[in-house]
Order: sequence, then C-alpha cells, then structure tokens
Amino acid sequence: MTRTKVALVGIGKIALDQHVPALKASPDWELAATISRSGKVDGIPAYTDFATFLAECRDVPVVSLCMPPVPRYAYAEAALLSGRHVMLEKPPGATLAEVHSLEGLAKANGLTLYATWHSRMAHAVAPAKAWLADKIVQKAHITWREDVRKWHPGQDWVFQPGGMGVFDPGINALSILTEILPRPIHLTRATLEFPANRQTPIAAGLIFSGNVTADFDWRQEGPQTWDIEVTTDEGQLALRMGGNVLEIDGKPVAGENTIMGEYSALYARMADLVRSRTSDVDLSPMVHVADALTLGERITTDAFDF
Ligand code: NAP
Repeated sequence: MTRTKVALVGIGKIALDQHVPALKASPDWELAATISRSGKVDGIPAYTDFATFLAECRDVPVVSLCMPPVPRYAYAEAALLSGRHVMLEKPPGATLAEVHSLEGLAKANGLTLYATWHSRMAHAVAPAKAWLADKIVQKAHITWREDVRKWHPGQDWVFQPGGMGVFDPGINALSILTEILPRPIHLTRATLEFPANRQTPIAAGLIFSGNVTADFDWRQEGPQTWDIEVTTDEGQLALRMGGNVLEIDGKPVAGENTIMGEYSALYARMADLVRSRTSDVDLSPMVHVADALTLGERITTDAFDF
C-alpha cells in the first residue's frame, strides 16, 4: 500500500513522545518533513519556516499541527489555503470561533480537518460508551489530578492566555465524558483557582446538569489520577487510567493499562478521513471549557513556578 506523506509541525513534547512513534509504526503514513523553529526528528527533512515548506513540498498533502493552541490557527489556515488536509492536536484551537472558521474553510475547499481527541481513543472508551448506551445515568464524577511539572515541564504557555491551564488535561476527561454519556449535559457552576502570578487556572471544580461533577487539579504529586465514575440504574461504571481501563461494579472488564495506542488510532482515523475527504470536528469538550471560563467563580491561590 502506498503511504501518504505527512508533515509534523511543532516538534516538542507531544510530537516526540507520541506522533513520531505512531507515524513510524503506521502502514498509512510516511513522515516526510518537520517544521519547527528548533525541534527536529533524526533523518527527516527539517524546515524552520512554514511558508517555505508549503511552497517547496507540494507533494506532501497532509500536515499535523502539534504546537500549543494559540499559534495553531495561523498554521491551519495557511495549510488549508494551500490545499493541505489538516490534523489538529487537542484542544483544537484557542477559541471556538476560530475552529468553526477552519471547518468552513476545509469544507469550502474539499479538504479534511480533523480535530483530534486522543483520550477518546483510549482502550476502554468504546466499551464504556456501549455499556452506558441503554442505562439511565444517575450521577457521574470526574477526578483528573496530575502534576503539571511532570507533564508540561517548563511550558509557560499553559499559564498564558489561551493556554487553558488545568483545562489542558481536563479537556481530555471532558472529551471522554461527551463521548460516553448517552445524553448531553451543560455546565451550571464552576470554581476556578488561579495562581496569583498566572493567567489560567491550576485547579477547577465543575458542576453540570444531570448530577455530573468534575475535580481537576494540576498540583498532584505522586500517584496520578484520571478517573471517571458513573452511577446508573443498573450498576456502577468506572473508567480509570485516562479511559484505558473499564470496571463494572468494581471488576475490570475491558481495556489495557497503557496510553500507547491512542495516537496510532488517531492517525488511522485521519487516513480514513483523508480517503473519504470528510472532516471530524466535535467541539463539545471545548464548549464546556469555554462555559467554565465564562461562568466560573475566580479564586486567587498561591503563586506557581515550575
Ligand atoms: P510544547 O512541547 O511546549 O510545544 C510543542 C512545540 O510547538 C514546541 O516545541 C515549539 O517548537 C512549538 N511552538 C511553541 N510555541 C509556538 C509558537 N508560538 N509558534 C509556533 N510554534 C510554537 O507542547 P506539547 O506538550 O508538545 O503540547 C502541544 C500540544 O499537544 C498542546 O495543545 C497540548 O495540549 C497537546 N498535548 C500535550 C500532551 C503532553 O503530555 N505534553 C499530551 C497530549 C496532547 P519550536 O520552538 O521548535 O517551533
């Protein structure tokens, strides 16, 4: 099978940890170029300027954008305007409006736009969705507590406007929740803790309709927690390890305790979307984040430094 050429843009933590290994193992893709001001991948042609890449590499039809959300729109727009299909890391942009605009541009030009949610590809998300489909959800709670120093070492952008703070990981939980719940929910109240020296929250408590709550915290050292617990009329579901392990009534029934596999699944999906020239842009996780930042009560907490 011929492999489709793809360029990776923004060679940082997630590109090196996940995108490069997933592409190297994929039967669908050939990593043909990187575009990054300082990052590189051994053996792959490297560009530092996106416009130069777009002009010189007409034979690369797909770009995958791995930089933080705020600068991403300009790259996505330029790529679509030059006839390239585009894959977006999560969260898909800095604002909802800019992603709607990209979706329109892709459609108008017959191109694929894929707003990825890697956590939706976790091993136990599909079985959890199937199990919940015919149940009545009585309540649900998300606990998403991790150490920002471990997962975003020195990345000041997460605390700058548009970086989303603790919603950068929290949106992964919301991407799973919006995928598995049989009915939509909406935010009714939120409490956001902003470090005194930062522009985005380090912790958040969320209350949704339907008796759904969430606790996001970026200050957890030691064991990390990425759990979603759902009480239904027919028993208790728990998704653990970021959606990778499914328990029903306390017993593991599906999944695998590893996050490896999520990015391979994203690239397989992108290959299907490009073949069919369709897009996949679901902004429901980001709507909840935007609502929390609109409605949330702001509390100032201790200053935070890496
Ligand atoms: P990162 O390492 O800080 O950034 C990735 C690369 O983007 C940087 O190395 C930089 O490359 C480029 N970049 C940064 N600012 C830029 C700007 N203003 N304009 C153009 N390029 C810029 O961040 P990351 O952890 O990889 O996260 C990137 C995205 O992946 C985020 O949306 C994040 O939510 C998502 N993600 C991260 C993780 C994780 O564990 N860290 C997991 C899943 C998803 P150059 O300086 O070489 O240009």
